[in-house]
Amino acid sequence: ASGGSTSAIKQVKLDKECEIRIEVGNETPLRLRLLSGTAEIFGAELPPEIWLTFPPRHKFAVFTWYGATIEMDGETESDYTADETPMVSYVNVHAILEGRRNRARASPPDSNSSQGPRVIVVGPTDSGKSTLSRMLLSWAAKQGWKPTFVDLDVGQGFITIPGSIAATPIELPIDPVEGVPLEMPLVYFYGHVTPSNNVDLYKVLVKELADILERQFAGNAESRAAGMVINTMGWIEGVGYELIQHAITTFNANVVLVLDQEKLFSMLKKDVLKNNPNVDVVKLQKSGGVVSRSNKFRQRTRSFRIREYFYGPGNDLSPHANIANFSDLSIYRIGGGPQAPHSALPIGAKSVADPLRLAPVNINRDLLHVVLAVSFAKEPEQIISSNVAGFIYVTDVDIQRKKITYLAPSPGDLPSKFLIMGTLTWLET
Ligand code: ADP
Repeated sequence: ASGGSTSAIKQVKLDKECEIRIEVGNETPLRLRLLSGTAEIFGAELPPEIWLTFPPRHKFAVFTWYGATIEMDGETESDYTADETPMVSYVNVHAILEGRRNRARASPPDSNSSQGPRVIVVGPTDSGKSTLSRMLLSWAAKQGWKPTFVDLDVGQGFITIPGSIAATPIELPIDPVEGVPLEMPLVYFYGHVTPSNNVDLYKVLVKELADILERQFAGNAESRAAGMVINTMGWIEGVGYELIQHAITTFNANVVLVLDQEKLFSMLKKDVLKNNPNVDVVKLQKSGGVVSRSNKFRQRTRSFRIREYFYGPGNDLSPHANIANFSDLSIYRIGGGPQAPHSALPIGAKSVADPLRLAPVNINRDLLHVVLAVSFAKEPEQIISSNVAGFIYVTDVDIQRKKITYLAPSPGDLPSKFLIMGTLTWLET
């Protein structure tokens, strides 16, 4: 990688099938526009001539199939041109998926073959899973399909805030700056940024999400034929591997794309085909452009995502500060403390460490800076199986007056008094 550039307008000419890989500087945004030719950012075509503004630390590539000239204005941490990319192999996958979507659309609506491709993208951390998911979705949307994007990565959160799993139809190529539009995704709140906090709960929520989507697909031939692209997390060893297999079977995935890892590929090929010989397990190369991110960087991205939820991607929303009485809210936590050995319990007794146990939370100062999900549940018993309307952020707890102050993305009363608490916190900066 070359060094960073100083602030000056610079033109870059890209030959066909080349990309420029850019890390925006730490302090100021970068502006970029397409001057001539055609180019795309992770599957979304650049509009000609229009300046796009990328926030500090953003990492991305501008790729061209036929050649392009772009112009950049601002500081970069690094930028360099690469002529070796796996894009041809990625677009070949897209072409195969496209064929399957067309076949699905041509099939009788209630037949098995009316189901389009259900693609799951797996691989280690920083192998380009989210990026590949995004390209496949954008290319499909460009052809007029409305594929469903499913994000099972509780660590980063591409569709909504971290700690959640979510799904949303993608109707347009994904905006290179703004990402996935936040209109009404289907969201389940898990509450932690790694599945290891409560593996049973994670599995239950994955199942809930899959069941709901299955029901939606049953009544919608168009989205059924478009299929889905499922992004997963980078935990591929031990329990992480089991969770990948769990996701493949729960969503009935029929295409498994394995990035970067020979071992994961050969294990999955063996284990998946044993259950279902009709699944395609495909190995794909990782792009040399994928940037490895430190834990600290990841943490900062998580914090950014939460900020974006309340303030909008371009800082263009203003969240509302609301006040509620303690008695107006009913906060629950799912799962107990450390696992107690089952043998220590009387037969039939439910352990307080039951991973699916619903426990009311006493309101006190511990709630400060906590991000809570607002459940659609009507009764506490429905909390685990209900999706969430959105999130609030606790900014003050007044014990004396028994009042909580919180930020919400919109004004007015909460759609429900049932709130879910995990370990997700945020320090507004
Ligand atoms: P994963 O989902 O496997 O953890 P990502 O797809 O999120 O990996 O990629 C990691 C980072 O690398 C992201 O910030 C992404 O924008 C960046 N990235 C991916 N591909 C490229 C590329 N070809 N050029 C520059 N940056 C890239």
